[in-house]
Amino acid sequence: MFDKILIANRGEIAVRIIRTCKLMGIKTVAVYSEVDFRSPYVQAADESCLIGPARAQDSFLNPEKIINAAVAHGCQAIHPGYGFLSENSNFARMVQEAGLVFIGPSVEAIALLGDKTASKALAIKAGVPVVPGCEEPVWTLDEAFVIAKEIGFPVLLKPAAGGGGRGMRIVNDMMALPDALDACKIETKKSFGDDRIFVERFITRPRHIEIQIMGDNYGNIIHLGERECSIQRRYQKVIEETPSRAIYESLRNEMGKTACDLARASGYAGAGTVEFILDSEKNYYFLEMNTRLQVEHPVTELVTDLDLVELQIRIAAGEALPLKQEDVLVKGWAIEARICAEDPSRGFLPTTGMITRYAVPRGKNVRVDSGIDAGSIITIHYDSLLTKVSAWGANREEARKTLIRALNGYHIEGITTTLDFVNAVLAHPAFASAELSTGFIDEHFQEGQSRIPPSEQDLHYMTMAAVMVAHTRRNLVRDSLRPMSPSVGAIEPPPSIYKYVVQTSQNVFEVLLEGSEQSKRWNITVNDRLYKVVAPEFEYYRRRLKLYIDGIANMFRLQYLENHIRAFFCGIVRTFEIYTPLEWSLAHFMLRDVKPVQENELKCPMPGLITAVTVEEGTQVRRGQELLRMESMKMESAVASPRDGQIDRILARPGQAVETDEILITFKEIESLSSDISNSR
Ligand code: ADP
Ligand code: ADP
Ligand code: MG
Repeated sequence: MFDKILIANRGEIAVRIIRTCKLMGIKTVAVYSEVDFRSPYVQAADESCLIGPARAQDSFLNPEKIINAAVAHGCQAIHPGYGFLSENSNFARMVQEAGLVFIGPSVEAIALLGDKTASKALAIKAGVPVVPGCEEPVWTLDEAFVIAKEIGFPVLLKPAAGGGGRGMRIVNDMMALPDALDACKIETKKSFGDDRIFVERFITRPRHIEIQIMGDNYGNIIHLGERECSIQRRYQKVIEETPSRAIYESLRNEMGKTACDLARASGYAGAGTVEFILDSEKNYYFLEMNTRLQVEHPVTELVTDLDLVELQIRIAAGEALPLKQEDVLVKGWAIEARICAEDPSRGFLPTTGMITRYAVPRGKNVRVDSGIDAGSIITIHYDSLLTKVSAWGANREEARKTLIRALNGYHIEGITTTLDFVNAVLAHPAFASAELSTGFIDEHFQEGQSRIPPSEQDLHYMTMAAVMVAHTRRNLVRDSLRPMSPSVGAIEPPPSIYKYVVQTSQNVFEVLLEGSEQSKRWNITVNDRLYKVVAPEFEYYRRRLKLYIDGIANMFRLQYLENHIRAFFCGIVRTFEIYTPLEWSLAHFMLRDVKPVQENELKCPMPGLITAVTVEEGTQVRRGQELLRMESMKMESAVASPRDGQIDRILARPGQAVETDEILITFKEIESLSSDISNSR
């Protein structure tokens, strides 16, 4: 066995690999860039080595620097994690040439399977069903036309060297093909330095099902069941689970065998994932094989009780697989949610900043794979994945509820993340009934918000949490004032029933609170509905509150705004204004509707680099129309117009580095609106 390995990665996956190494008694070396020196994974490793500036090309994507670090620190092997150089056969070869072990499959297997057209050809040879389409890249429009006509629209254009969902384009008809092909080529060239495109049928409303496989260097290959990863945004996974409701025993065995056949045909050793797409008639088609550990491997670990990283390391060290297919037992259900530094209300644009407060959920059957801590700085340089939470349950519903509860108690403050969004997905009735497809998010969510309103009960629960906190704070203030007014007659005994009026942007609730802090038991009525609540003692400044409501524990996250309380629960976010009846009637005299003023400029939504400006000064534009494109966190995104209007000045230039809120474009003033509002005030 190795006694020291280097981890050529960062963030949560580096932490994950170090954990297993510790259990196995293997020392670890972390590599880091100039912005990563304080990261949890660097702290967790036994040794660490600075490999260069933040830009991935100069650090995590630089094979020489990583291999030199491994040699200098006396490592025998390198674990690549995922992303970065993990599927780069050239890197794997260089590692071997330096006399080190690459923890992963052979150079040949990576080269063969890493390319989508080559692996598709191999799949056909191994008898694996593939999506109808071409096996060779298309070079001309005519070739693309012929293939598209043969397989029928809609078709999907895909980069052969693709990954991470980048560069794919759906084409619905002949007319759209020429432009789409050009655009796809340009983007592919830019992202992957390769412009080979292939065409395949676009399967509508499919499910993404993948099989985890594990092989050794002695020809043994087994599979560890399926994972369903249908919840995606931009063709990238958001929530994954195992097993899948769409798969029954005989289909599992068949797909598992097929995946093993493909792996065998490529001489595969180590951990790998064969991805399939499943149509509504339960036909499955090969998509690609990922020759590495997968982001969502924790769910497989939770149901099989295996440590996939340990198996990877043992196999790379020359050991045989310690188990046979019939030894693989799948118990219960597991679901994972990825939490990314992205803003779901702005098309999942990346966010950056510093984590200012951080508290992870704990609890039975909850697993957190985190790469961050309070003080972590999230930059534009790397993948937006911050942390993952997985839950195990005896069945799907138990796992789902446990995961929702865990996310309710996960506190990440300082930057916008997808945490509440993923929780809203998990809480959605269509997710609960496992009606999944890769179009789920577009179908059920808009700008990060569910298309259906939250349940009344969830809103009542949140109202009670906000009221309990507000009530405690008021009592504290009252108690602290008491010593100052001893001479003003007798002190009135506190009332036994308190009444509050609670307002959110959408609802008004009347709340009656009966009980006492001493007994910790309360009867709370929200709009005539009575709840029995036990509120364990809490400090009013805490950010998490646990309430037992009708016997069940519920965790709420809270933020204190000036006079209001914002609560987070099951993906619902609401700001609560809490009044006594007297305050309420006063406030109502003074509240006024103020219409928002039209934005007169386009402010930069995120830090990054301007790649193109797609309008000119004087252009008439509509709200939502693309104005420019920018790159941040490895992704190019369109930036849309905040309003209808005419472009006045363009301050942004392609190639320019920009910061959040920097003014990029200004609009010509429109006379109306804004002036009336300011006059009426
Ligand atoms: P998975 O099925 O494991 O999610 P992905 O292909 O989505 O596989 O990517 C795995 C990880 O690698 C993700 O964190 C993803 O964001 C990252 N990744 C994907 N493509 C790239 C790339 N070109 N460069 C760096 N990281 C990438
Ligand atoms: P990547 O390398 O980016 O992970 P994949 O080939 O694995 O690319 O596809 C990623 C996702 O794109 C799939 O999970 C699926 O949602 C979608 N997709 C890929 N091919 C098709 C297809 N032929 N029809 C419909 N959706 C597809
Ligand atoms: Mg994929």
